[in-house]
Amino acid sequence: MKNWDVIVIGAGSAGLPLAIKAAERGAKVLQLEADYRIGGTLHWSSGQISAAGTRLQRSVGIDDSPDEHFRDAQRIAKDSIDPIVLRTFVDHAAGLIDWLMDIGFQPAPGTPVAGEAHEAYSTRRYLWGTRQAISILEVLRPVHEKWVKSGGIELRLQHRMTELLTDARGAVIGVKASTPNGEVEFRGKNVVLASGGYAANSELWAKHTPKAPLCSYTNPYSRGDGLTAAVTLDARIDRGDYFLNTFAGYHEDATDPTSGRFLLLSPGARKVWEIFVDRRGRRFMQEDHPSIDYRERALFSQPGTAMHIVMDEGILQNAAPLTLEDAAAYRARFGRHPAFIKARTIDELARKLEVPVGNLRKSIAQYNRAVDTEHDREHGKQFLIRRIEKAPFYAIKAQGITVVSPAGLAVDKQLRVLNRAGKPIKNLYAAGEVLGFGRTSGNAYVGGLSLTPALTFGKLLGEKLLSW
Ligand SMILES: Cc1cc2nc3c(=O)[nH]c(=O)nc-3n(C[C@H](O)[C@H](O)[C@H](O)COP(=O)(O)OP(=O)(O)OC[C@H]3O[C@@H](n4cnc5c(N)ncnc54)[C@H](O)[C@@H]3O)c2cc1C
Repeated sequence: MKNWDVIVIGAGSAGLPLAIKAAERGAKVLQLEADYRIGGTLHWSSGQISAAGTRLQRSVGIDDSPDEHFRDAQRIAKDSIDPIVLRTFVDHAAGLIDWLMDIGFQPAPGTPVAGEAHEAYSTRRYLWGTRQAISILEVLRPVHEKWVKSGGIELRLQHRMTELLTDARGAVIGVKASTPNGEVEFRGKNVVLASGGYAANSELWAKHTPKAPLCSYTNPYSRGDGLTAAVTLDARIDRGDYFLNTFAGYHEDATDPTSGRFLLLSPGARKVWEIFVDRRGRRFMQEDHPSIDYRERALFSQPGTAMHIVMDEGILQNAAPLTLEDAAAYRARFGRHPAFIKARTIDELARKLEVPVGNLRKSIAQYNRAVDTEHDREHGKQFLIRRIEKAPFYAIKAQGITVVSPAGLAVDKQLRVLNRAGKPIKNLYAAGEVLGFGRTSGNAYVGGLSLTPALTFGKLLGEKLLSW
């Protein structure tokens, strides 16, 4: 049986640069990918990345450093990022972006910026391509393809790693995979788990992040296989409680927690005409607060991260849709989809939402007074354009949504997977979301701190950390 130098599990954000860089150093690389195509979450991701000290920054006169990136990320995350992992990341992130640009990546006009989608950095180090993460995949693909064609990388699609193989001393010596030809074993000197997160696996979610109900929009292959395999070797999995939801979404299919869909609630992109009430029918936040962190945390503090978005016929007819659909399709959802409620009266709406009638009436009456006086004494909402008074009345049952998963494998600064005693498991490495979003971004959304560490750590392992 062939003994590979490196077996890479996954051909996504971390796995692609890893395989390329290891092949460039002459390694015999086997890459197993469960999907029928390469790219992983790059097919889904917004592709927003960040680094300090890049050539791009210097070319537009931005003076930045890894130390600044470290401080700024911990400021936004309130010191909740794993400092060892963050240090390794910020020290190598600029090299990643310089390399992506060397192989053809073109930043979107106007980038880098300080902030967009998440709390702003203190300087302009946040960028993306014009086609979300596809812009990154499209520059990695030809380089990867070249190595696959020349035999430097042996790529096996539809090969799902199911087990890590060890010798008598517990050192990893290979993997077992389920393939179109049945179960197959592969032997290697190094095994790298680059198999992504677990936001598509509701059982693992309930196990690692039990306090926040799952509503995810993610790659269906993010099933947490890396965690499931590593735990059998006593690997330490932690940070499942380092979670913050994104603001906000709903379940397209009420029976499937991974069928999350986003609602367009950013006040920068669309005026917020509606009010938000809690499960008791009371307003609980400033609906159009400019800080995304404020909005995410306000929702996260609600039981079940749940809220109801309340409006009337006047708002439904005049405001832009809250889904990505056109106005007709959006309006047609109400009364038909279980999360989109329609009622003839406020009292009926309250009953359908199972909130106390008196509370909902009071919330709407107070809000209407705020509209009349142009001053929202209770919550400070700024956009007070229209009373909620014209039947029918509507609500969307919304909740916190996620694209990432917080728990992950503990690693040292060489990205060796650690066991529960804090000792490296011999020959086993990990990169990407399998480390946990809670490790790379803490319990906050720091711009680019899931995708950029995945790419950076993949590159770093292939380029330097692995030996054979
Ligand atoms: C909608 C969306 C938007 C996002 N936007 C951003 C953003 O703007 N910025 C940011 O920083 N982060 C963002 N993220 C998160 C970021 O994209 C991911 O965390 C990152 O791409 C994960 O990289 P990865 O290499 O760990 O996993 P992936 O890219 O998912 O790669 C893992 C690969 O492993 C394969 N695999 C899984 N199990 C096995 C197995 N058992 N055997 C073999 N192969 C297996 C998968 O099929 C996949 O191809 C976003 C995520 C989503 C879903």
